[in-house]
Amino acid sequence: MVRRGGDDECWPWTGAVTKDGLGKVYTWRGSELAHRIAWVLLRGDLPALITLRRRCTTDSCVNPSHHDWTRLVHRNRAKLTADQVRAIRAAAARGESAKAIARRFSVSRDHIYAVVNRLQWRDVA
Ligand SMILES: [Zn+2]
Repeated sequence: MVRRGGDDECWPWTGAVTKDGLGKVYTWRGSELAHRIAWVLLRGDLPALITLRRRCTTDSCVNPSHHDWTRLVHRNRAKLTADQVRAIRAAAARGESAKAIARRFSVSRDHIYAVVNRLQWRDVA
């Protein structure tokens, strides 16, 4: 379903596409975007909070190297205090799972991921 080229080349999706020309995959959960699936297969976890932004001009490109992933939907921020953010990072550093931390602070696992990886609350040391 993909014409996989070199690491720097575009990898156009050759299967179904959305009306915007993005590659589309049908899974048991419904349709998902092909570039997100490719990212997960090649790079690992991709929380729903994170959006991928394509850097090349090929609409159906699924090459992870052609996508930036730092753009986020900033939400839920008000739920946490700076002290809690520090506590979350400390818990993650001790090896506590994101799932357990998320439950303890009543926020989503994606949110924990964003806090720990400093995609949110970057200003808190
Ligand atoms: Zn590309």
